[in-house]
Amino acid sequence: MKIGIDIDDTIVNTRVIEEQFKAKYNYNADEETWYEFCQKHVQEICELATIKPGVKEAFDWMRNNGCEIVIITARERFDHFCNERFTARLFEENGIPYDKLIIESMPKGPDAHQHGIDLFFDDLESNLDNVSSYGIESIKVCEELTCQGKYKEFTNWYDILAYIKLRKNMRA
Ligand SMILES: [Mg+2]
Repeated sequence: MKIGIDIDDTIVNTRVIEEQFKAKYNYNADEETWYEFCQKHVQEICELATIKPGVKEAFDWMRNNGCEIVIITARERFDHFCNERFTARLFEENGIPYDKLIIESMPKGPDAHQHGIDLFFDDLESNLDNVSSYGIESIKVCEELTCQGKYKEFTNWYDILAYIKLRKNMRA
């Protein structure tokens, strides 16, 4: 089974760090857009962002149980600091295994389709919409359940791993 996984706000807590910076630098929406503000601090934000609980256990299980892990991120498309080498280091330093890192992916659907992804995880609905339009099962990773019913939702990687195990058993 091939599993496609986003990085920011899916396996690392980028938004939490962005919110901390918002308070620290007294972000003023009248002076700059939220996107401009985040871009200005992107280097620090990416350096401070940490792996969410349960990610390592889930990735280790996938690696040890025949799942192919394909990381699909838009990083570097918008910012040259968050490049492939910087991003690969995040995985290395945290001992997190993966098989392929697709960087600058936007839209993500064609990349997911081309790599034969069976199951895709992302926090952004626009990415889920695009990937699911290729008939790929797409799952939302969120801080809180929205219960909108459009996509299956999970708030943590312990539940995600349980679901991956379930889907893997269904295919076996
Ligand atoms: Mg994301």
